[in-house]
Amino acid sequence: MPKKKKKKAEKRDGTLLVGIDLGGTKILAAVVDKNGEIVAKSKKSTPVAEGAFVVIDHMAEAVHRALEKIDASIDDVMGVGVGAPGPLDPKTGLVHFAPNLNWTGVPLGGRLEEVLDVPVFVHNDVDAGTYGEFRLGVGKGTDNVVGIFPGTGIGGGIILDGRLITGSRGSAGELGHTIVLADGPVCGCGKRGCAEAVASRTAMTRDIRLAVQNGRETAFVELVDDLHDERITSGTWAEAAEAKDELALEVLDRTAYYLGILTANAVNILDPEMVIFGGGLIEACSHWLMPRIRQVAMQYYINKLGADKIQIVEAQLGDYAAVLGAAMLARDRLKAGG
Ligand SMILES: [Zn+2]
Repeated sequence: MPKKKKKKAEKRDGTLLVGIDLGGTKILAAVVDKNGEIVAKSKKSTPVAEGAFVVIDHMAEAVHRALEKIDASIDDVMGVGVGAPGPLDPKTGLVHFAPNLNWTGVPLGGRLEEVLDVPVFVHNDVDAGTYGEFRLGVGKGTDNVVGIFPGTGIGGGIILDGRLITGSRGSAGELGHTIVLADGPVCGCGKRGCAEAVASRTAMTRDIRLAVQNGRETAFVELVDDLHDERITSGTWAEAAEAKDELALEVLDRTAYYLGILTANAVNILDPEMVIFGGGLIEACSHWLMPRIRQVAMQYYINKLGADKIQIVEAQLGDYAAVLGAAMLARDRLKAGG
């Protein structure tokens, strides 16, 4: 008997879209109407220890729950978009490797499509976030956008001529691993001097601890000690900066300096009209980071002509950028025929 070729789930007549943000601790699903408004949402924990297929079942459950809230069903949905940790292949929906989920080679798109019986499109979560801001957030109306999201690492997304650039292997936009300080500190990727190794929250924590070990005194240490926490939150950085803590301000300034260099590199290569900075650290500390990022970037632009028109701005959609972007990517890919 000839083997039946599995085909992509049929496109539905429904007008609703669903966006899912798959994180290491939680799954956020949002139902998005044709105007790009979130009309219902649902959150579930990510049961990492139970394996990939249980996680995917939880994703499907979150979708159904969100739809139930507005008395809708999966039949009303034309497509589902997922923002997932990568590296992954957006064409096949295969997640190659996701350390925070303990995944290697998981067919996320295919499996979720089977479970939901609706077309599913998978993208890197930062790509989805950048696309959300581009379509529905601060980047609305632009054509060429770079997204930079500093957090534990530094994620990046690139949109040129209105299209998300995913590259030949789905791994374009790894801005966090561009080298901004050759032979600098070791990065999570094992190389030295990546932007992520000098300007992520991980790098900031390392720098302030190192300074304290070397005898620098700061009120900020008390804040950290009080928390007994390995991880300094974005809010704590803002608090310390607000209190004019000299060491915290120094670390924030250095972070902004390297983010400025990263911005200039991206602008020199891609010439976007807008660079969007998002994530919790930027949200909490924009006052201390954004002006300095703009100033440093300007110094390093190769083409100064009209450089003042390149906007370096904060993201607007917060935690919803990825779900909205994933939903819009699903819609745009359905429109373009997959
Ligand atoms: Zn790196």
